[in-house]
Parts: sequence; C-alpha cells; structure tokens
Amino acid sequence: MDENGLIDPEELRAAIRPDTILISVMAANNEIGTIEPLREIGEIAKEKGILFHTDAVQAFGHIPIDVEEMHIDMLSASAHKLGGPKGIGLMYIRKGVKIRSFIHGGAQERQRRAGTHNVPGIVGFGKAMELALENMEERSKYETQLRDHLIDRVLAEIPYTKLNGDRTKRLPNNANFSFRFIEGESLLILLDQNGICASSGSACTSGSLDPSHVLLAIGLPHEIAHGSLRLTLSEKTTKEEIDFTIEKLKEIVTRLRNMSPLYEDFVKKQ
Ligand SMILES: *Cc1c(COP(=O)(O)O)cnc(C)c1O
Repeated sequence: MDENGLIDPEELRAAIRPDTILISVMAANNEIGTIEPLREIGEIAKEKGILFHTDAVQAFGHIPIDVEEMHIDMLSASAHKLGGPKGIGLMYIRKGVKIRSFIHGGAQERQRRAGTHNVPGIVGFGKAMELALENMEERSKYETQLRDHLIDRVLAEIPYTKLNGDRTKRLPNNANFSFRFIEGESLLILLDQNGICASSGSACTSGSLDPSHVLLAIGLPHEIAHGSLRLTLSEKTTKEEIDFTIEKLKEIVTRLRNMSPLYEDFVKKQ
C-alpha cells in the first residue's frame, strides 16, 4: 500500500499464503476516498483460486463496478450511502460460493439470514439504486469538477496543507485534507458555526478523539492526522457553496493557527 492508501496488487500477491482463503478489500475508502484496483486484485484472486470480497459500501452507486469484469465473488453495499433508507444493505454472492448462515432460524434469504424481510427498506434500496445508476456518469462528472476545484483552491491558497488519498483514483465526492498545526475538532466546530457540515474522520469513530486509523495506516504522524478534515459533496452542492466553504476555511485555519503554540514555534524557527 502506498502513502495514498492505494493497494499494490503485486504486494498483495506476495502476501498470499498457502492457507489464504479470502481476499477482502474496500472498493473505495470511506475517509480518504481512494479507489482500489479491484480488477487487478480480482484477477490475482481468480488466478490463485481465492475468494474475493469487496466492501463497496462507499463506492456503490458512485463509481462503476462490474462483478464479472473485476472477478468479484462477494460484494456488500448499503442503501443510505446512495440516498436510500437507513437499515438495509445487500450482499452479492456469486453463484456457487458457499458461505455459512449469518443468522440461523428461518429459511429467509436462502437460509443465510433468518428474519422477516424489511420490505420498505428493500423497495427503497431498489429505487435508490435505480436513481443512482440512472445519472451516475453525469453526476460523477459534475462532482469531480467541483471536487477538483475545491482541492486545487485549498492546496493553492492554504499553506502547510496536504491532500489525503489519491489525487485521481478518488471518489468523485470526497476531499480529505490535513492542515498542519491545528486540531480537526476545532475546525469542525468553527465550520459548523458557519453552517458547514464536515467530518474529521469516519462516523464509526466520531465519538473518539483519537486520530483516524486510516490516516495513521497511510503513515501520517499523529499531529498531522489530528488536523484532518473530510469534506464530501453531492450533485446538489453548488460552486458557490464550495467557494464559500473555501473562504471560511481560509479564515478559520488562519485564526486557529494564530492561536497555536506549534505554529508559533514553527514561525520562529523559520
Ligand atoms: C458506511 C460504511 C460501512 C457501514 O455501513 P452501514 O450500513 O452504515 O453500517 C461499511 N463500510 C464502508 C466502506 C462504509 O463507508
């Protein structure tokens, strides 16, 4: 894996042992947006006769995924990440792949997950998928343009800032930055006061003040991982909103740095 979180297929191949039965790789990372080389990984899995699962929760409905071309045996996705209802997900299982039951009891879901079907959830997920697939290409183009505008301006106009994740192999709606010398939490609060919703990591760990494990795993030092910010956009986001966000970010980052003893030390040493 490189410093952008991108898996090197050859490194993956070298990690396979005689007792390896499963390769499971996120299709795209939910924090830094990096899109993994699924096709290359799938080809290795197929060649070695190992099952390949992808957690596509963040990518599904946002980027094209083809289970045949990419040799994916199992894929999981969740409705609420593409505008559907909360509480419903799906798992694609290639015909012939045998897995144990997840919940025993009834014969639902081909005996793999006992319990009454969540029909409104299923219907809602189906509709959300239909809508997401209908305009995926257009939406992705629009979001990518806005995302690149955001990234270009932030990197050019706010010094000591780093983009986390791959610059181009990246989800259309994701931007993740680290601002040196400041705390992500303070950034979030000040952005929120300006009506801007952002996140400093993933929702799964939002209750914790520890730096993101994803940013640590790609090699960021603690103090830089602490100053991280994730901004996500959608087809409804406008250029005006992005420009407003950038202006506010510039003000807030300057203000926080002016209060930061780390920044003061840094400036003195310059
Ligand atoms: C959100 C997310 C999950 C969890 O899905 P829920 O339906 O919210 O439980 C798992 N993996 C990734 C990559 C995600 O983005």
